[in-house]
Amino acid sequence: MTTPPSLVSRNPADPADVLLRVAASGAAAVADAVVKARDARPGWLDGGAGARSAALVAVAEAIEAAADELAALAVREVGKPHTEARAEVARTAAIWRYYAQAPHEPTGAVHEPFGGPGLLLTRRRPYGVAGLITPWNFPFAIPSWKAAPALAVGNTVVLKPAPEATACALRLAEILQRALPRAVFTVAPGGAAEGGALITSSDVVSFTGSTAVGHEVVRAATARGIPVQAEMGGLNAAIVLPDADIERVAAHIAAAIAGYAGQKCTATSRVIPVGAALHPVREALAAALRELPVGDPSDPATVCGPLISEQARDRVTQATCRGGAVLAGGNAPRRPGWYATPTLVEKLPPGHELLQEEVFGPVAALLPADDLAHAVRIANSVPYGLVTSVHTADLNAALHGLDHLDTGMVRVNAPSTGVDFHLPFGGTKASSHGAREQGRAALDFYTCTRTYTLSPTGA
Ligand code: NAP
Repeated sequence: MTTPPSLVSRNPADPADVLLRVAASGAAAVADAVVKARDARPGWLDGGAGARSAALVAVAEAIEAAADELAALAVREVGKPHTEARAEVARTAAIWRYYAQAPHEPTGAVHEPFGGPGLLLTRRRPYGVAGLITPWNFPFAIPSWKAAPALAVGNTVVLKPAPEATACALRLAEILQRALPRAVFTVAPGGAAEGGALITSSDVVSFTGSTAVGHEVVRAATARGIPVQAEMGGLNAAIVLPDADIERVAAHIAAAIAGYAGQKCTATSRVIPVGAALHPVREALAAALRELPVGDPSDPATVCGPLISEQARDRVTQATCRGGAVLAGGNAPRRPGWYATPTLVEKLPPGHELLQEEVFGPVAALLPADDLAHAVRIANSVPYGLVTSVHTADLNAALHGLDHLDTGMVRVNAPSTGVDFHLPFGGTKASSHGAREQGRAALDFYTCTRTYTLSPTGA
């Protein structure tokens, strides 16, 4: 029998600081966790809506009570700037409170029979064990916005977190396991082997991560015929019209490009000034990026912290030196940790990596457009379709954007990076597969409609 590899979690701002070394679970342990979760499912479901709701409230309260410690852990393990880490923890608690209402919602409808007496009913029921595979960049919020709706409707859960966020996942699991009955929620640390084992043993799969891996996960789950959703990468555009308040918009877009070092699926990576907006946007955005506070993520003033790994940092710095003209940044600061400077580039040759692929760093390309229709064509010209922001005082221009932009979300006069967790979240094309996450949409994803026919005896 081969020993599962060990997982090493390091502080990206200070790689000598090792948070934890643990053995990966191994595929057999994942399959075993799923069996135990399946055994725990009837008790969790039959315990009733009140018990499930109360347990989810208890999770929210425990997260709130541990907020400072959890935020500090995200700062140290995944380099999330302190202010954003605090906001993520607050949002995580709010997600559990929001889904604590779900067990009390109606689960179906009553229909009249086509002919004769009796009742026809529909009812949404949980699938069984939800297998969750998550990335490292929102180590509390993403596992929670999958687990909370899955549990609320009566599934049990096994989570395979990203290795880079193992300490956060284990701490979240501790909180959940205190509030929930045994084996209702289990975490299985590991990598692709554990993720694969989860897909082959669970009853419904929810994945968030890169597009390449997401497509593999969808293929594997589809081959088993189980429901699967995948939230994947983005290459998001910000369209700026000349009538926008350019200084204010530049500050918002700079933060959407380089906040958390651009490591959000919703980060802005293409900026499209329309017509006369080109020169003011070019100047104001380059200045805003140069002034953006880069530094230690534990400093509350920091907006752009480190990249998650040396490899991630190298990918960003290499992509920015392959053609085009650098307007701001374009280098790696001389300091310990895996940092890249907030960067704006223009005049990229067609087909350049930054115009086709998600590089997942604090870098954006400037792509001038002649008019709004041209801007929309540029925005839509990539394989991804997660979110676009449109910045304008003109309602007609905003409406044109809503009608013609081919992304799952369009945000008018708001940065691409905001998330409203009570609304459906997801994209088009290579950004998403399957049902939406968050809001009520998530409750539908984790349940299957059953149809019941009740006829009177002797009918
Ligand atoms: P990733 O490399 O795709 O990994 C995501 C998860 O999948 C990890 O837990 C990973 O474990 C696991 N995995 C890898 N190969 C697998 C396989 N063959 N079968 C099953 N599981 C497998 O993504 P990441 O680097 O952690 O996160 C960054 C990406 O997530 C970016 O592309 C970002 O855009 C995306 N993201 C999307 C959203 C959204 O809602 N659209 C939100 C946040 C992040 P290992 O790392 O051990 O391989």
